[in-house]
Amino acid sequence: MHIEIDQDVCIGAGQCALTAPNVFTQDDDGFSTLLPGMADGGGDPLVKEAARACPVHAITIKEPTG
Ligand code: SF4
Repeated sequence: MHIEIDQDVCIGAGQCALTAPNVFTQDDDGFSTLLPGMADGGGDPLVKEAARACPVHAITIKEPTG
């Protein structure tokens, strides 16, 4: 799994950080960012919930194919 956050789309609603606080946080400007080392989600099942919770779909989860 690889998580991408489109900060051009993010409106800083904070739903991701609320939903999966071990993976997402908010930077000084209020935009979503990943905690250090968590670009792969760290196996946290809440990552998918967080992506669903984002009101503007700024979070993309890429699963390895094949
Ligand atoms: S839920 Fe979406 S809009 Fe809100 S901070 Fe997270 S990525 Fe940004």
